[in-house]
Amino acid sequence: MDKRHRQRDMALIVQKYGGTSVGSVERIQAVAQRVIQTVQAGNSLVVVVSAMGKTTDGLVKLAHEISPTPDRREMDMLLSTGEQVSIALLSMALQAMGQPAISMTGAQVGIVTEAEHTRARILSIETERMERHLQEGRVVVVAGFQGISSQSDLEITTLGRGGSDTSAVALAAALRADCCEIYTDVPGILTTDPRIVPEAQLMDEITSDEMLELASLGAKVLHPRAVEIARNYGVTLVVRSSWTDDPGTKVISPIPQPRPLQGLEIAHPIDAVEFDLDQAKVAMLRVPDRPGIAARLFGEIATQDLDVDLIIQSIHEGNSNDIAFTVTKNSLNRAEAVASAIAPALRSPVNPMADEAEVMVDRRMAKVSIVGAGMIGRPGVAAQMFSTLAEAGVNIEMISTSEVQVSCAIDEEDCDRAIAALCQAFNVNQSPAKSGSGKHRWAEEGPNVPPVRGAALDLKQARLAIRHVPDRPGLAAKIFSLLASHNISVDMIIQSQRCRLVNGVATRDIAFTVSANDADEAQAILQAAVPELGYGEIMVDRSIAKVSIVGTGMVGKPGVAARMFEALAKEKINIQMIATSEIKVSCLVAEAEGVRSLQIVHAAFELAGNDRIVVPA
Ligand code: ADP
Ligand code: ASP
Ligand code: MG
Repeated sequence: MDKRHRQRDMALIVQKYGGTSVGSVERIQAVAQRVIQTVQAGNSLVVVVSAMGKTTDGLVKLAHEISPTPDRREMDMLLSTGEQVSIALLSMALQAMGQPAISMTGAQVGIVTEAEHTRARILSIETERMERHLQEGRVVVVAGFQGISSQSDLEITTLGRGGSDTSAVALAAALRADCCEIYTDVPGILTTDPRIVPEAQLMDEITSDEMLELASLGAKVLHPRAVEIARNYGVTLVVRSSWTDDPGTKVISPIPQPRPLQGLEIAHPIDAVEFDLDQAKVAMLRVPDRPGIAARLFGEIATQDLDVDLIIQSIHEGNSNDIAFTVTKNSLNRAEAVASAIAPALRSPVNPMADEAEVMVDRRMAKVSIVGAGMIGRPGVAAQMFSTLAEAGVNIEMISTSEVQVSCAIDEEDCDRAIAALCQAFNVNQSPAKSGSGKHRWAEEGPNVPPVRGAALDLKQARLAIRHVPDRPGLAAKIFSLLASHNISVDMIIQSQRCRLVNGVATRDIAFTVSANDADEAQAILQAAVPELGYGEIMVDRSIAKVSIVGTGMVGKPGVAARMFEALAKEKINIQMIATSEIKVSCLVAEAEGVRSLQIVHAAFELAGNDRIVVPA
């Protein structure tokens, strides 16, 4: 391992400054001063910067004034200019203050990426040139967010919006830096976005699993891929304010297995295949679509101290919902009793003639999961899981997705077959951890971990619903592979529990969320496949918001989801869809109620601090 800097008894630090932090000449000079202080404290320094202020947004707008669908290569050519301005100016500022410095573009460093314009992943980073400059006493100022497709093609690529964080952590991994510090316009990672909830509270620490979830559920303070790299390579990662000397928030990761730096962002998406045989399912069909139903059901369940694992809820035609959840096998009878006791009371007040809610249980369930941070932004991984199970003849009953895990509830009889097929498909050994649904990963954290670490709001999602999907193994796999082949990531996948006969064929509805930018394309792709796949109407709803809570401390603590549902119900907010993973609960609500929902949920878990956070303009 090359630790030349250590030999010289100097630490190597990578610092990244975001757009607001380099938004003006004065701020660039303030950054230069902080950089010089760090050097004077005896460190070698690589500095990564974003484009000034809202430059990138401005460039995107310009492009769209020229063309509604600009070429992706030209887009990269354009967007990469923003960072080039900041590196030159920061370098000049350092030099003007007497600090030797040199600016470098992604190409000059040798940040090699895939040839995927506007969303490239980093393959490798050359360190020689940077190291030479460092040895010679310079601060190296690198343009974030950009790379080059290969040393022979020399095509400029960008990593996707917010990608400078990823550049910084990847450089820290490649240089084996002692620390990567992300400087931004807030004091660190907070319990939620202070622009929406000013009482949001600063955290001293957060686990990388929690941060991965928060980042991908809308907390843009860190790019999720940056967290992934930090986790995979054991990079010490800190988020701090550009305006103060406060310590900020540390993102903590378990000590990783050593891995090669080649294929940095693309190697090995899956670390483990896990299973849990101790699962049983309760489904409530035809519950009315009005606020308070989930709160009531899960409130009662929590009163009985029953720990619910997965929960899904999705809406159907005729304005009624299916809610399904899993519990341990020995909790099944009590969970069923609670659901059956509530069902008669759920008759619709407007339509008392409608069918009563119906309770179905299945004791013979198992859960199989694939686990690994490398599936972020790679929709093909979940799709591959579904098609692997389909090929093995395993029917998927429930799906739960998170950033680092996809879990499928299946028939327990199929469990061995499912595990064998998944281990082979993803080239992993079955994890030593036996049953326990992957919960062992968080179990050792102790009783003082709060059940909810943070909350997030995502207003940039759309919901798609596909009606009347023929109930055959493999159809879900086909649908999601199709979307994955167009690089469309899906989240909150829910299939209805109810089967409907359409022309003599048993069908189910499938609903899921995608990024709002992808909604039209997803709809068109699915529409084009109707003749082949034979499902019904495809509906898109853009006016939705996703509110989520995240915390490893919710594992094994009954009642956390219920508390969220109750808080929303008390404020008469209707939950349109629910999806959970082991460490998160997400609810879809109407877009107009998104901000209020986040505020309600944040308050319900007592996440507020004493100080109000003021974000600089
Ligand atoms: P930069 O330009 O420094 O990369 P970003 O705008 O990308 O900054 O990210 C910082 C912003 O992230 C904050 O100003 C804040 O509004 C938002 N944010 C969202 N969720 C959180 C959270 N949980 N903690 C801190 N900031 C958050
Ligand atoms: N300038 C780029 C963006 O605005 C990258 C970044 O700031 O992280 O998305
Ligand atoms: Mg950012």
